[in-house]
Amino acid sequence: MIDIVKNIQTINNEVGQNCTLVAVTKTKPNSYIEEAYKVEQRHFGENKVQELERKYNELPKDIKWHMIGHLQTNKVKHIAPFVYLIHSVDSLKLAKEINKQASKNNRIINILLQVHVGKEDSKFGLSIKKMKALINEPEFKSLDHIKIVGLMTMATNTTNQETIKFEFDTVNKLYKELKPSLNLKYLSMGMSSDYKLALSCGSNMIRVGSTIFGERNYKK
Ligand SMILES: *Cc1c(COP(=O)(O)O)cnc(C)c1O
Repeated sequence: MIDIVKNIQTINNEVGQNCTLVAVTKTKPNSYIEEAYKVEQRHFGENKVQELERKYNELPKDIKWHMIGHLQTNKVKHIAPFVYLIHSVDSLKLAKEINKQASKNNRIINILLQVHVGKEDSKFGLSIKKMKALINEPEFKSLDHIKIVGLMTMATNTTNQETIKFEFDTVNKLYKELKPSLNLKYLSMGMSSDYKLALSCGSNMIRVGSTIFGERNYKK
């Protein structure tokens, strides 16, 4: 049996007080979340709307649920009543829909803008140029039921540490540049394979799944 409690404690000792650990529980059963919950873990991340909604309904209400995966506009309404932070905002269209659903639910939803700086093509995430264009767009600025609280990035899937470091450094630089004017709080970068490197590059929010809960089995 995988020792969830021990794994969380180990990571907490490594990251210190100023970093938020988002425990990524996609594909994992509620019992794993309950185990983590016992040792005060409250931030959990999922990447599928349906699974996130189900787990929200079944588990303690003081859990802070993070949506970390690609989000389709037609599904925003399902998570708008309760989601704590959406990490994956990468278009005006999506931002507008989150704003609309947040307004319907009488709340302000915190979001991160997902940036992509790797060379490999990615369907998700904004280039730095597109991100800057978005935040300066009047229509985006007028959305008063969302609040940008930070940036999120996923490094290129490679074992080359130099490449990953370059990407993390680049996003950290962008974060520092925008932080004062946008009042940013979170730089979400780092997963199981690269969170230590991410921390050394300024991350203050890591999203860790398999190191805590074991490898995922998608074939089931
Ligand atoms: C699955 C996932 C993670 C966690 O991945 P691990 O390698 O299991 O730590 C982090 N971020 C995102 C966006 C994910 O989809």
